[in-house]
Amino acid sequence: MSLQESAQNLIKELNESAPYLSYAARFASFKGFRYDKKHIAACSSDALSHAGFYSTATKKNPTSAKCPFCTLELTFAENDDPWELHKAARPNCDYVMIGRPDDTTLSLRTIVALALRCATVAEYEKMFKMFKVFEEYNPRIHSTAIRAQATAEAIGFRDSTMLLIADHRFKTFDYTVRGFRKPTPSILKRLAKAGWCSAATNCSHLSVKCPFCFSAVTFSETDDFWEEHKRIAPDCDFVKLDKPKEADWTDDEGLMLAVRISIMNKYETKQKILDQLEDDEEVEKLTEQLSRMMAKPRFLRRRCSV
Ligand SMILES: [Zn+2]
Ligand SMILES: [Zn+2]
Repeated sequence: MSLQESAQNLIKELNESAPYLSYAARFASFKGFRYDKKHIAACSSDALSHAGFYSTATKKNPTSAKCPFCTLELTFAENDDPWELHKAARPNCDYVMIGRPDDTTLSLRTIVALALRCATVAEYEKMFKMFKVFEEYNPRIHSTAIRAQATAEAIGFRDSTMLLIADHRFKTFDYTVRGFRKPTPSILKRLAKAGWCSAATNCSHLSVKCPFCFSAVTFSETDDFWEEHKRIAPDCDFVKLDKPKEADWTDDEGLMLAVRISIMNKYETKQKILDQLEDDEEVEKLTEQLSRMMAKPRFLRRRCSV
């Protein structure tokens, strides 16, 4: 497969696993939106999509919308400014932090980071629903097939997110390479607690990788592993949560981190394609294509079917 084909596949897959990443997908979700019928409404479907929201309207709540990057869900009034409300409620949302895509030139890495965030949130919501099946399971109402499917999914999910737990990260430091002094268990425990797992090479036992952000680094024994993680990868989800001890996590925080690992795993090979692309002149064409997808089309027609 040529690099160009890989790039096209990458875009396609990002779009599929990150629903509502594009302006067009968000805009399409507001078809027949109530405030669009009023010419002066500030809170139009265009303004909402532009501010990052997609419609979660129900009969009871026809003007609710949600951000696919941070899960903020609001019910909007006619004169609300969706961008200002988004900014005020979630200043740290990845979408808010980049500024409106139309006003900014986004780099390929920024767009892919947004797509990964969107995919993480989508997976989180899927898993959240699945765990609800266990909580609310009632054999008189639900079929056993639903529970069996949820169990299978939960096992698969747990297996693919083992590195969530410091003890499991610690177990990755399995030294079989001879000729090097093995670091003491207390050093390895400190590494695991700071989010790192082994990426040991023949040259160094202290080469490590973070399963949450894929940062890779080679430490010396005297480094402060947690402080270095914060310095190297301030955007890493594990770093941003700032609770290295699992016991301090809420259920939601734990689930979000677990989902992050599973999404990062899925995209590991694609990250490599991305690294290659950055050294290639094709990158400009690709970035342009992705930027167009993120921004509002120049000629916007209401209720277009995208
Ligand atoms: Zn948001
Ligand atoms: Zn990290």
